[in-house]
Amino acid sequence: MDQSDDTPMPIDAHFHADDLFAVAPGFVDEYRELGVSGLASVHDDAGLEATRRIMAGARAALVSFGLHPQLPRMDEADALAARAASGDIAAVGECGFDFYGDSPETTRTPEAEAAQRAVFEYQLELAERSGLPVVLHLRRADDLLFEYAGRLARLRAVILHSWPGPANEALDFLRRCPRALFSFGLPLCNGNRKAAASAAALPASALLTETDAPYQPPRSPAPEGGRPLRAWSTTSDLARVASRIAEIRGEGERAVMAAVESKMSARGYCSATTAPTLWPPLGSACSGSAASGPPPRWTWSARASDPSSSSTSTR
Ligand SMILES: [Zn+2]
Repeated sequence: MDQSDDTPMPIDAHFHADDLFAVAPGFVDEYRELGVSGLASVHDDAGLEATRRIMAGARAALVSFGLHPQLPRMDEADALAARAASGDIAAVGECGFDFYGDSPETTRTPEAEAAQRAVFEYQLELAERSGLPVVLHLRRADDLLFEYAGRLARLRAVILHSWPGPANEALDFLRRCPRALFSFGLPLCNGNRKAAASAAALPASALLTETDAPYQPPRSPAPEGGRPLRAWSTTSDLARVASRIAEIRGEGERAVMAAVESKMSARGYCSATTAPTLWPPLGSACSGSAASGPPPRWTWSARASDPSSSSTSTR
């Protein structure tokens, strides 16, 4: 789809291009044809290079690089720091906390928590130093989200990927961290009621859409309820997410997409020249006690230049 008309650009705020390519290599054509703009997440330097190769023909894809809490190791820490310093990445993450309990690393023992905290704090400091936003992955760690809210509130933006709810915590966190963006994916379509309540309660200015592709497959609705429609999620599922948010909020799909797009309009890979235009400037309004006062007005309007004129090294 040519985005020169008024059609809002579909936004995929969180997906894994390298992992998606492994199961559905054709997604890149779809991504380009649908005119998607997205933030591809990687966990290591090899993944970043692979993602750039894969997305080279897709026009609008930024990359976030983070040390995942399910594997809280520092092997790639130096590579991450170098990429953040060089302006190669648009955000730090996904990073955060995962205490789902399905592995020793994610079982909340004092040791596991210490390991995840160390890796997260390293990345938080990196984001603070480099002025980059963070993409958060959180499972069963709401207390830690609130513990770090003060520092998160001073970042350029905080994307809470696949926000699962509940709504009262979303609103509370948004009060403390006005630059928080709550990203919703297919769990919303697959019957997650707390996520749906959050998507209904939050202001449109705090919503993003994502696929987490390939990791969140769409499921069939009732009466079959819950049968995976395929084994992976992919770019075209963004339409399901946008239409579900529209349904939940009683708004038009186009209005939802436009609200989402206005927060993350980016064309071309992030580079030293494009990164500063992708996120709101750090204003004084939120750099102190973020819990007080109204959310600042952001200006997301400045778009990065067309990739054909950017200094990306990937093409
Ligand atoms: Zn992910």
